[in-house]
Amino acid sequence: MIQTMQQIATIAKMRTHINEARRQGKRIGIVPTMGFLHEGHLSLVKAAREKCDLIVMSIFVNPLQFGPNEDFERYPRNIERDREMAASAGVDLLFTPEVSEMYPKPILTNISVANVTAPLCGASRPGHFDGVATVVTKLFQIVQPDYAFFGQKDAQQVAVITQMVHDLSMPVQIVPCPIIREADGLAMSSRNVYLSQEERTQALVLSQSLKLAETWLDEGIALVEIKDRLIQKITEMPLASIDYVEILRFPNLEPVEQEVAGQAIIIALAVKFGKTRLIDNLITEIR
Ligand code: AMP
Repeated sequence: MIQTMQQIATIAKMRTHINEARRQGKRIGIVPTMGFLHEGHLSLVKAAREKCDLIVMSIFVNPLQFGPNEDFERYPRNIERDREMAASAGVDLLFTPEVSEMYPKPILTNISVANVTAPLCGASRPGHFDGVATVVTKLFQIVQPDYAFFGQKDAQQVAVITQMVHDLSMPVQIVPCPIIREADGLAMSSRNVYLSQEERTQALVLSQSLKLAETWLDEGIALVEIKDRLIQKITEMPLASIDYVEILRFPNLEPVEQEVAGQAIIIALAVKFGKTRLIDNLITEIR
């Protein structure tokens, strides 16, 4: 029997569904999102279908993870469209709480993960990963998932959540999923709708320069030189303004002290095009 998707807006109602699912021995998966869905989000649902009997997708634009001058208010939203996409992708329960449901009064508890939050987006967006770790913990408490699916598009987020789950012995397995791209290479993101046509064209430099970096690694070029070349390549785009270009060890996000063949690294980019900040990355290894 094909089950139709149910949309749930309260924690109490979600708990009722989860209790029933657990009683039936179902394996529960969660796909946390901020909505305005695209194929990247749907790929996480697809991965969840492989492992889970009940798939919960949350759509919640979490104010805790936005800085004061960031785009919380104007973050794109379209719940009707999201509902259709989620249902056809195979989501069973769509969790869409209001901010007042998640945070009925000021939240005094904060989950803060050290070290992996220090570089990259953690440095550019103070407090961002506290907001992420706190809301994800809360979602895990509500949904009690066996599996949680996250995209490597936000590789640092995966590192933070994996560390948190390990440190706090949370009974959930984190499943990282590959970056989904548009046909021309641009990493899918809800924020891509902010881009003007010209910004959108110039933003291709992100995926293109990551591809080049891969060939430079093959050629045995030193990481410092690769970083310089990346900065140069991105700077050629008149509308681009670099937030960071970093090459770090993966997954601990520590500096590469010594270049050792076979060592896993992440090449991570954050670049603003006009007002829109885009991120992209490549997880690879030193040759
Ligand atoms: P967001 O709605 O942007 O917070 O993203 C929700 C989840 O979807 C996160 O785990 C993201 O990493 C993941 N995600 C977003 N964009 C992509 C993408 N292009 N490919 C794979 N996963 C993605």
